[in-house]
Amino acid sequence: MKHILLIATGGTIASRPTAAGALAPALTSEELIACVPELAELCRIDTLQLYNLDSTSIGPVQWRGIVQAVRARYDAYDGFVITHGTDTMAYTAAALSYMIQGSAKPVVLTGSQKSIYNRDTDARNNLHRAALYACHPAAWGVQLVFDGKVILGTRARKTRTKSFNAFSSIDYPLTAEFRDLRLVPFLPPPAGWGPVRFYEALEPEIFVLRLIPGMRAEIIPRLAGCDCRAIILESFGVGGLPGGDDGPLFAAVRDWCAAGRLAVFTTQVPHEGSDLGVYEVGRAAKALDGVIEARDMTPEAAAVKLMWALGQSKDRAEVARLFLTPVQFDLA
Ligand code: ASP
Repeated sequence: MKHILLIATGGTIASRPTAAGALAPALTSEELIACVPELAELCRIDTLQLYNLDSTSIGPVQWRGIVQAVRARYDAYDGFVITHGTDTMAYTAAALSYMIQGSAKPVVLTGSQKSIYNRDTDARNNLHRAALYACHPAAWGVQLVFDGKVILGTRARKTRTKSFNAFSSIDYPLTAEFRDLRLVPFLPPPAGWGPVRFYEALEPEIFVLRLIPGMRAEIIPRLAGCDCRAIILESFGVGGLPGGDDGPLFAAVRDWCAAGRLAVFTTQVPHEGSDLGVYEVGRAAKALDGVIEARDMTPEAAAVKLMWALGQSKDRAEVARLFLTPVQFDLA
């Protein structure tokens, strides 16, 4: 029988209404597994109550806490299931994908849209399938299991706020899929996978700027005063700057990069990524030293990978190289 560690961090799956009627995490990891009796027949399961937070409040500090918890127990278990709120689960899935690389043992995130105590909850199915995946011989790497889908940690996005099929795999095939309780695996690990490597350093001082028509360029030099080492510019379509290389935004990005900082271009369009060299409004920006593109990375993966890459090096060229090196199928 496989030996699995369930790490509980909170989220709707563990929530109960407060006295004021709002949902907040309250159930313990032991209470969660008691709701899914199938787990006792499937595996030997231990639990660790690491946090009990709404995932809105989970960020780099907790990502590091999860990595440390997995690292300290890595040899003792065959796999890890992490229960987590859905709102920032895609960020945590991306963060763990960069912070725990090459893991042959599965590290599986799951949660639910309804609390496990609701009569019509999705929580029991999701937790059961997350454990089924973690015990499966074809399982690997950091994955998110939700509504019968197994999604790469680097490709997952929350695309629905209420429905049970809340998560999608963006621009990449599923790792696997459940047909009832039978797992159909699709993706083996990438070539050269393993051995496992843990990273704990992150640099969260980045800023994501979503362009809107008419946006004034003054915002960019103001960010320089906030100690940001890198900015992500969510541009339109395949990418560009209003006014092209004659516009004030181009001058602001040029000055930003001239001071040794990075500017990462991405797109507001949900699918297929950026390609900054296509239009004249983007070409001059693409040619600037310090400008790179997130291409088809999800916004969550791009933000977290940038924090991870900045945490590994102070050298801009090395940060850019790390950012552009594919990890767990994040870049096609
Ligand atoms: N606000 C909750 C959270 O992210 C939502 C959920 O878990 O579905 O913790």
